[in-house]
Amino acid sequence: MAHKYVYRFNEGDKSMKALLGGKGANLAEMTVIGLPVPPGFTITTEVCIHYADTGRYQDGVDVQVGDALASLEEDTGKRFGDPSDPLLLSVRSGARASMPGMMDTVLNLGLNDTTVQGLIAQTDNPRFGYDCYRRFVNMYGDVVMGLKPEGDEGDPFEEALEAMKKERGVKLDTELTADDLEELTRRFKALVRERTGEDFPDDPKDQLWGAISAVFGSWNNDRAVAYRRLYDIPDTWGTAVNIQTMVYGNTGEESGTGVGFTRNPASGENHFYGEFLVNAQGEDVVAGVRTPRPVDELEEVFPEAHRQLLDVRDTLERELRDMQDFEFTIERGRLYMLQTRNGKRTGLAAIRIAVDMADEGLISPQEALMRIDPEQLNQLLRPVFSAEDTQKAVDEGRVLAKGLPAGPGAASGRVVFTAPDAVAWAARNEKVLLVRDFTSPDDIRGMDAAQGILTAQGGMTSHAALVARQMGKVCIVGCGALDIDVRARRFEVDGTVVAEGDWLSIDGFTGEVILGRLETRPPEVLQVLLEGVETEDESHSYRYYAEIMQWADKERTLGVRTNADQPDQAANAIAFGAEGIGLCRTEHMFFEGERIMDVRAMILSGTTAEREAALARLLPMQRDDFAGIFRVMGSRPVTIRTLDPPLHEFLPHDDADQRATAEALGVDVESVAAKVAELHENNPMLGHRGCRLGIAFPEITRMQSRAILEAAALVKKEGLDVHPEVMIPLVGTKKELEHQEAEVRAVAAEVFAEQGVAVDYTVGTMIEIPRACLTADRIAEAAEFFSFGTNDLTQMGFGVSRDDAGKFLPLYLKEEIWPVDPFESLDQEGIGQLVEMGIKKGRSTRDDLKVGICGEQGGDPATVKFCHRVGMDYVSCSPFRLPVARLAAAQAAIEEHGELELEK
Ligand code: ADP
Ligand code: MG
Ligand code: MG
Repeated sequence: MAHKYVYRFNEGDKSMKALLGGKGANLAEMTVIGLPVPPGFTITTEVCIHYADTGRYQDGVDVQVGDALASLEEDTGKRFGDPSDPLLLSVRSGARASMPGMMDTVLNLGLNDTTVQGLIAQTDNPRFGYDCYRRFVNMYGDVVMGLKPEGDEGDPFEEALEAMKKERGVKLDTELTADDLEELTRRFKALVRERTGEDFPDDPKDQLWGAISAVFGSWNNDRAVAYRRLYDIPDTWGTAVNIQTMVYGNTGEESGTGVGFTRNPASGENHFYGEFLVNAQGEDVVAGVRTPRPVDELEEVFPEAHRQLLDVRDTLERELRDMQDFEFTIERGRLYMLQTRNGKRTGLAAIRIAVDMADEGLISPQEALMRIDPEQLNQLLRPVFSAEDTQKAVDEGRVLAKGLPAGPGAASGRVVFTAPDAVAWAARNEKVLLVRDFTSPDDIRGMDAAQGILTAQGGMTSHAALVARQMGKVCIVGCGALDIDVRARRFEVDGTVVAEGDWLSIDGFTGEVILGRLETRPPEVLQVLLEGVETEDESHSYRYYAEIMQWADKERTLGVRTNADQPDQAANAIAFGAEGIGLCRTEHMFFEGERIMDVRAMILSGTTAEREAALARLLPMQRDDFAGIFRVMGSRPVTIRTLDPPLHEFLPHDDADQRATAEALGVDVESVAAKVAELHENNPMLGHRGCRLGIAFPEITRMQSRAILEAAALVKKEGLDVHPEVMIPLVGTKKELEHQEAEVRAVAAEVFAEQGVAVDYTVGTMIEIPRACLTADRIAEAAEFFSFGTNDLTQMGFGVSRDDAGKFLPLYLKEEIWPVDPFESLDQEGIGQLVEMGIKKGRSTRDDLKVGICGEQGGDPATVKFCHRVGMDYVSCSPFRLPVARLAAAQAAIEEHGELELEK
């Protein structure tokens, strides 16, 4: 049999997204499970890719389309181009991943001056016939013939429509008569001729192929390309084209169209959610140009369709096992399903839906875990406005208006009115709120740059709401009270004027728009975790957070630790689930308060005796710091790194600072300046730092070891079973480590004898020099643990200075020379090999070698999963990344077992 390029809806299913696109696969699925889908067929993504590459179709595509069309005619009893009862079609794009509004759709295809008479005769409704016809010419003109306006350009069809309304003295489209619409269609066609020099095609077959090619071509339009960049969608996926029998929501008051969500996409609440418009077609709801009615009201308007929809909702969730976002149309009271897909949702909703579905038995807890993008957990950690501030704003009459809460969180910013302004202001480090009538796909960069988005029009399923939810932006839509004048860069609400640059605050939980700048405060989860606020509320986001974390902890085998240098950070980290500290940087403590002068005294010392005296002054301070951390961490392991940065980082570099230092130390300023000059290095990150300092000045290592172990002994005597782990940085050879280890162990023996108590401690090293990975078997003979310092390892392994990468990294990322910033997400392909080798070699000489990672990448989900796969014992990251790391670690464990067949 010839290669299959065309699939009828009853020949596919939901698993075929790569070939049929998401829309096509799910239309097939809905058809197969018996939902009322208008019949149609799908041309595969393979055809798109071929067409994009060559500008041609594979042999056989035209024949297969012809056959599918013929069977569509048979199914519907109508013929394409029939003057008395024409089959009309929609031609719809649909890629593997949903790209809302990015590519183009043509409705009512097959109409011309002859067939429109057939449509009118069939429906006995001339107004409807011409309404369809003018919409078709408009869409076809835009999509296929290239009249679609770019950016701020006016839409010629829109202008012609407005002119017509003005001539007739009416306000609404629906007030135009059949004759008006007929005339409008004529003018639209004239416009096409005028703009393109071509006649509008009358032959339905020409129309069909024109539309198919345009939809395939739209894969490479600017908006679609920009969207793919933003969401990492490969260019090679292509879009499918879906060709479907038309149904009509615009026949009059007995018809309508809408969008439904099986659950609330903003809050996750298990409640049928959606919006509809009476007597409307196509994208009227999604475009946000008319503010639709809530779906609850459907029960009054179309009771029978509403009842059916409730059934559909159950069926969809049962069969597709996830929250669905679907499009429906009611034609003369009869329900049709036009699309379904897994609904985009806020992080909040993702968590709530996953937990609820697991609790309802629809999915397993493991699946629930896989449903949440670890980064989405950050939305739970989003700031909110305080109740007092909000109340104060109410009392002072600063609550300007209320819209629909489409993206949770609280944001303040200065008002801007266009997407390019948002980008420009944000580039100057201004916090901005983007205020628009409605947003279109051209606005995505501006939306991305803004703290939040506020629109006057559109519903919860409008473009603004959809995109904001996906980006995780605070968003309010449909705030009808706003009267926006983009040209004057201002808006007005009941006489109050807000101009560009004014501060405004929006509450994406309540929909309130508040004048001025409100401070934000910690979100619910943090109030519980960190402030001890109690809650019994079942729908409180903390309950969902806690349940997810509990399941995650059950699944994961990878440990999670935190990078923390202070007791309060450590306490936060424990609240977020830290099982230990993976990196405590002792040098951070050196900058605190007055200490820096003692540090400088130590560095500037001329003799060992002087240095020891300065160190003796630092010892009690360090000991107190460590004791504070041990008290918080209790029996959890604490890895403390000995001094790492080049000494000059602690020194005074400007004149005034050098003078002050000289005075404090009682030396002359010239000697300070001379010492600073002497310590200067051309390449400090590869210079005198890390264990090289400890080897040159063993008294520093000794002081730090003493501070650690005395603190440990002290806290142990207080009854806590502490486990310090002394970590030597920047080791490249076994000998370096041995040298430092000997110092640490000697001090330990002294301290334990003095204190009369021994502490269970270990000595290990940071693996951050490529040579250490290559000789890890040797190094492990002296190390009880390895902690991969992937910042330096990336720096040295990749040959990129982290401090200078800013000069070219943005370009590299934009041009996709590098897929991701290797300092954010570990370069698994390259640096990952060093890590794997280090672990393998290390364990070859010490099989119980404990291994972790403490670089910045340790909180990145992809890196966490990598760490699991290569057999690390733990990852360490900043406290606020811990929930993300816990979930990513659980996902890695689940993925490893591969029991779940997971849909992406
Ligand atoms: P998008 O991917 O941008 O959502 P769609 O292909 O879903 O584009 O089409 C856009 C609009 O056209 C939708 O609102 C849909 O309801 C409407 N539509 C598509 N096909 C049909 C059809 N066969 N009958 C009626 N309306 C349709
Ligand atoms: Mg759609
Ligand atoms: Mg380092």
